[in-house]
Amino acid sequence: MFVCIDLGGNNIRGTWMDRSGRSGTPIALYRPRTLDGTKKVLEALIRDLSKEAREPVEKIGIASAGPLNLTSGVYIEPTNMPELKGFDLSGFIKETFGVTPVLENDAQASALGEIFQGSLKGEKDALVFTLGTGLGSGVIVSGKIWRGNLEAGPELGHIYLGPGRKKRCGCGQVGCAETWLNATALHDLVRKNGIVLKSLKEVRIHLEQKDEKALKALDQYGKRLGLYLSQMVSVFGIKKIGLSGGLSELSPYFLQSARYTINYRLASRPWLLPDKLAVTPDPHMSALWGMGYLLF
Ligand SMILES: [Zn+2]
Repeated sequence: MFVCIDLGGNNIRGTWMDRSGRSGTPIALYRPRTLDGTKKVLEALIRDLSKEAREPVEKIGIASAGPLNLTSGVYIEPTNMPELKGFDLSGFIKETFGVTPVLENDAQASALGEIFQGSLKGEKDALVFTLGTGLGSGVIVSGKIWRGNLEAGPELGHIYLGPGRKKRCGCGQVGCAETWLNATALHDLVRKNGIVLKSLKEVRIHLEQKDEKALKALDQYGKRLGLYLSQMVSVFGIKKIGLSGGLSELSPYFLQSARYTINYRLASRPWLLPDKLAVTPDPHMSALWGMGYLLF
């Protein structure tokens, strides 16, 4: 029996999994913005999942935003979770549960999860992008994470996507793809089209009511995404693309314009055109499936 955890900025999510790939209903708990609070919630969640699994837990896998040193298990300078800087995650789990956890960067885990149980199930080569608070990326080659020379894998969210976006990226720069494609970017697009939202979640109501301003904002977002994806395909030559993350739930409203832009950008090089641009069946499960895949 395995326990798979996804430790993110706002939530800690987890499920149990057995060797046949069966898993429980995932549980998500709010993550306090302190080190002590994070430890308490993490410990409680793993205990709850172990109880629910009703069998001894052999392995624990944790996907987390980093940077996290995967060998030592210590957080380096986590951009969105500064309170965890220097936290020895591996040591804490070993001390508490007597098991050394398997760790992975959350974007990489999500990419693996998508070829294991998600939108690209059964594929061997894939590019997976996680669209949410940030822009995570994972490159899978022959069923394995391709890291380049970087432990957390290539940081495709920090590729320059052009001037004009003043919002500074978590990395300190301007113009990163992340600042053009994350939730804040979409929220700003909706606002520019004349809709004021308290939270981005409300955009769905406008979309369902076929509000033209909202539909236009999502269409513009799709074009940006298509521009970005056409470049990623040109770099990697990988033609299976998966999308995950919270924003992927809005894909019915932006996927068509993304496809259109990809086709337009690659019109002179049709051999690069992706043959799959697929959306995860459950963005909350991607990283958990990925940890399951690693633990198997
Ligand atoms: Zn950046």
